Amino acid sequence: MSLNDSLEGDVRDFLVNEAELHTYDDLTKVNPVTPTTVLKCLQARYSARVFYTHAGCTLVALNPFQPIPHLYSLDVMREYHSAPQPQDFKPHIFIVAEEAYRNVQGQVEPVDQSLVVSGESGAGKTWTSRCLMKYYATVAASSHKCQDTVERIERRVLDSNPVMEAFGNACTLRNNNSSRFGKYIQLQLNSSQLLVGASVQTYLLEKTRVAFQAPNERNFHIFYQMMKGATEKQRQEWEMPYNQKFSWLPNADKTLEEDRLQETAEAMISLGIDTDKRTQIFRVLASILQLGNVNFSLASESQPCDLDEESKGSFLYKTATLLQVPVDELQDCLTVRTLRAGKQNVLLKPCSQSECVIRRDCLAKVIYAQLFEWLVTFINNSMCSDNSKWCNFIGLLDVYGFECFLLNNLEQLCINYANEKLQQHFVAHYLKAQQEEYVAEGLEWSFVRYQDNQSCLDLIEGSPTGILSLLNEECRLNRASDAKQFRVRLEKELSGNTRMSWDKFSKQPHFIVAHYAGRVSYQIEGMMEKNKDPVPPELLSLLQKSKNPLLQSLFAASDAEGNGSRAQSKVVTVVSKFKNSLESLMKILHGTTPHYTRCIKPNPDCRPLTFKKEEVITQLEACGIVETIHISAAGFPIRDRVRSQKAFCIQCCWRRYQRRQRAIRTQSATLIQAGTASTQMAKSVRAGSVKLHLRRSPLRYADMHP
Ligand code: ADP
Ligand code: MG
Repeated sequence: MSLNDSLEGDVRDFLVNEAELHTYDDLTKVNPVTPTTVLKCLQARYSARVFYTHAGCTLVALNPFQPIPHLYSLDVMREYHSAPQPQDFKPHIFIVAEEAYRNVQGQVEPVDQSLVVSGESGAGKTWTSRCLMKYYATVAASSHKCQDTVERIERRVLDSNPVMEAFGNACTLRNNNSSRFGKYIQLQLNSSQLLVGASVQTYLLEKTRVAFQAPNERNFHIFYQMMKGATEKQRQEWEMPYNQKFSWLPNADKTLEEDRLQETAEAMISLGIDTDKRTQIFRVLASILQLGNVNFSLASESQPCDLDEESKGSFLYKTATLLQVPVDELQDCLTVRTLRAGKQNVLLKPCSQSECVIRRDCLAKVIYAQLFEWLVTFINNSMCSDNSKWCNFIGLLDVYGFECFLLNNLEQLCINYANEKLQQHFVAHYLKAQQEEYVAEGLEWSFVRYQDNQSCLDLIEGSPTGILSLLNEECRLNRASDAKQFRVRLEKELSGNTRMSWDKFSKQPHFIVAHYAGRVSYQIEGMMEKNKDPVPPELLSLLQKSKNPLLQSLFAASDAEGNGSRAQSKVVTVVSKFKNSLESLMKILHGTTPHYTRCIKPNPDCRPLTFKKEEVITQLEACGIVETIHISAAGFPIRDRVRSQKAFCIQCCWRRYQRRQRAIRTQSATLIQAGTASTQMAKSVRAGSVKLHLRRSPLRYADMHP
């Protein structure tokens, strides 16, 4: 029998062997690797209730959408932690966790690690991050339980989750507990690899949700928790009678397990937020709800606008009481604009109804955003260890996945930009590096074509003519018809860019960006305003006058923005801030060894154990899983390796394999001569039992050539 026959036999075996598909715990074993076969394999595993599958260097996690308690128990954690070779166990997020944990104590020197969890909304990123945090809080816990502080640290790290989720998560159409911010948590380990602290960095909270909720979506969980869980005493403190309706709390009848005030309050206590502070926080939150009920009387655009009777009598009064500011000043701030001409002259201009609404919403958003930031800082102070006490970290990244809605604006542009950056990091770190390694090892490796998204990144972040730069430039010029001007600039500067085009089907100008994960049409209308995100100075000075100590501290530092027009031009735009924070994140990621987990949402309705092929295939394509498998498979010995190639390249593969074997034989001999490897290791290299080694930590060229 010729080699060809036997290999084709392999392929045939596989193809008829669909009954065994669920047993393939690594997608590199699937043959041929195509989107369809990968999909079939994942579907078979999902039906067999197997939710994790390796895909070479990455882990694919399918969301079961129902609790699987035995999968994450303490016993299972300990099992993976104590195993000499956890990789030999069934694929699990704990393998990734353990691998990162062991890698921290690198062979030469300790190396920081990052666990990058990606996927679309509802795919299971936050769930996975929580699971990883629990894992480390368990396996990296100090055994000296009498050390009170150590115990408290693990507790605090875990308690940061319910608090941040209460304030930063909301029920959306895609996920009942959708994170409306991105986060990167660094778990700090000391030299004995014990968890001694943590710090968290957050990105781009969707603060517009405070004042606007899309149909069938909700505001942030914390508001519903307050409304549903307050005691009688708390209701009085918060000016929040039982049965009061709030315009900014739609869909309150929907009962969610997230609506638990008690749990949030207990976590706040554990983090060290004392009774006084908690009261101040809840009163500030309650003020936002009252503010949402304030309405303005309908006047023509040219006439001054007033508040309607109920708003004046009740809601505005309550808002002012809770914010601890004078009620008449609050009303003035909402309805009258102060214009400064020079140092002396002040002009008062009544606002139109729509301007009043914008000012009201702006007040709510700025308060909520500052409160969230304050909370994150507080949590950091509570969890963060002294620099002298920790030496390495494991970072967990949980950021919003790629987004493409019917209408997309600045938020989606930022989110998709972040995803482009992460994809590039993945490609550079794994795919490019691995291909280069094959070349360095002398392998005649035919390059797998993966999407290099540099051109898309150039389009977005390029200077001076990338989309973000042009947007900032237009905002700086502050022209009257900004949207139109912005469009003209985009057309002028980027008309030749193949990654950008114009949406011919939309009435208003929308530009389309060809992202690695698909084309997204962005609406220009409103983008400039969102980027400038202006806060009327009167609102800021009002908040600075508050008698509420929390509000005082929230707005004490924002003085620069409040004073006149000179400072206004210096205001940092939303995209500049986002770009900077993303750049520092990327810098941190580049200094760590990354581990990627791709979460997949098997159906759009979050239904348990339901696998919709069309949904899954789009997600597999979006994260380039097939390319990843191809490249990961390349380092395998013949059988697995051939399996991982398409049938037509079997023969070249065989030739390459033989060459690689020859190279390995010579290299292992050199290693022994140079005294850098034991005969045992060299033997195993020769015998081809390096499969696991190559998959997990590829042999490096430098290792082979001491
Ligand atoms: P994402 O952060 O990606 O938007 P989540 O992590 O919030 O998504 O997951 C959405 C929901 O899916 C969770 O609220 C949970 O009910 C369910 N879920 C996710 N992963 C798992 C899992 N491994 N086991 C059980 N349920 C899960
Ligand atoms: Mg999430």
